[in-house]
Amino acid sequence: MEQKEDNLKDIISHAKEYGFVFPSSEIYDGLSATYDYGQLGAELKNNIKSYWWKSMVQMHENIVGIDAAIFMHPKTWKASGHVDAFNDPLIDNKDSKKRYRADVLIEEHMEKYRNKINKDVAKGKKRFGDDFDVEQFLATNPNVLRNQAKIDDIEKRMRETLGENDLEGVYNLIMDLGIVCPISGSKNWTEVRQFNLMFSTELGSVAGDASTIYLRPETAQGIFVNYLNVQKTGRMKIPFGIAQIGKAFRNEIIARQFIFRMREFEQMEMQFFVRPGEEMKWYEYWKEHRINWHKKLGLGDENYRFHDHIKLAHYANAAADIEFNFPMGFKELEGIHSRTDFDLKSHEEHSGKKLQYFDPELNENYVPYVVETSIGLDRMFLAVLSSSYQMEDLGDGKQRAVLSLPPALAPYKAAVMPLTKKDGLPEKAREIMNTLKFDFNCVYDEKDSAGKRYRRQDAIGTPYCVMVDHQTLEDNTVTIRDRDTMEQERVAVDQLPQIIGDKVSMTHLLK
Ligand code: ATP
Repeated sequence: MEQKEDNLKDIISHAKEYGFVFPSSEIYDGLSATYDYGQLGAELKNNIKSYWWKSMVQMHENIVGIDAAIFMHPKTWKASGHVDAFNDPLIDNKDSKKRYRADVLIEEHMEKYRNKINKDVAKGKKRFGDDFDVEQFLATNPNVLRNQAKIDDIEKRMRETLGENDLEGVYNLIMDLGIVCPISGSKNWTEVRQFNLMFSTELGSVAGDASTIYLRPETAQGIFVNYLNVQKTGRMKIPFGIAQIGKAFRNEIIARQFIFRMREFEQMEMQFFVRPGEEMKWYEYWKEHRINWHKKLGLGDENYRFHDHIKLAHYANAAADIEFNFPMGFKELEGIHSRTDFDLKSHEEHSGKKLQYFDPELNENYVPYVVETSIGLDRMFLAVLSSSYQMEDLGDGKQRAVLSLPPALAPYKAAVMPLTKKDGLPEKAREIMNTLKFDFNCVYDEKDSAGKRYRRQDAIGTPYCVMVDHQTLEDNTVTIRDRDTMEQERVAVDQLPQIIGDKVSMTHLLK
């Protein structure tokens, strides 16, 4: 764990050094949990968005995308339940003066028992090799059963107390489990209180006229209020989906761990409108579809797991997270929620407008049910960055930092370099760059030795380096160097678009 957290520190400094992510307003010493994406970060982020948008919108005839405003009518948030129920239970440690989310403290405590079980399994595997039957071991080993019983018991109490908003019960659970503050090590806790996560501001310049509005805490509501506009103008037939990428704001109690939890972040959400009663079928469909989207990137199948929600949000009848193995361990990356007809019904009540669908096959009107997929773009960015970053040993005490980004997501697809700054090589390199740049984001680099330039491109994840040398002037060939194998090959300049295109195309990810 310690090594993994050090790994996070390395990633943060690498991200800053190479222009991926900067602390926000750094000249004023930054603003807590707020970050800016730099020149390469913006490219990587755009490529992630594009992969998501293409997969969700372009690849599905029955899904369309919109871009709604961040400000919405204040009644939206009353209807959605956020004014009354978008709370986190918080608790303070009186000795360290540190604030925690009570549910997170309990989850982390449970994770300890899960780790114990995982360790026992690993030991068994090591001892018995291929003969080891994991399922049987999990079902019979006394240590495992004891730890699993503890987890089940905590889960049950957590579901009961959080589900019923029994804050005293949550406090008692923390005390009974003997959870201590990681900083002070003490159990000197305050009571548990609820804290609303929405940011508010005033609309209008005349004080008397001003009314409180909120910065949207999720993009989903912009889709619900536009449900009928899109359905009618797009002549959409159920089942259909509306997708959106945009900023969301939450006044998180504790925002830390780099871009994992911020107060201003970006979501990529898709709400899928279905016939009532068919939501579980679609819930399973989207779980499967979304996990495949992740796995296609090749960041390692073992880095993903599903986690079913214990405490369902006020709108959901089923919910699961896709968790990713971040440097801090497995944490939520994406949520898939079956939201029932909660939102549309509630907007009907609060607006007085009908938000229904006439189903010609059933010959009846109904309020559709909704299954949503909701992924944090910044968390996805961190997943990609953290699993791609490596310090690689090259022998002879030499090392290189390499970002083995999926080529389709890499900020630059190729770096074009003249071997030297004279003999007409820069002009030839520019000429090549000028033909490639229409299809690929390329970078031109002529400073420093070839070795140094290669390292620089490795560190930012550029899949190919194209080197122009004296032979190029004679026979129009160049060497092309592969980031991962570091091997170089001599190819004709005319072949470059095809070679680079094959490598960086998103098509094979989408198929
Ligand atoms: P968490 O339990 O981590 O607070 P959540 O369950 O509240 O997350 P959702 O409301 O399901 O999150 O939001 C959907 C997605 O938005 C999450 O899976 C996550 O990727 C992203 N997200 C939520 N809050 C933040 C945040 N503060 N910073 C960055 N991304 C976030």
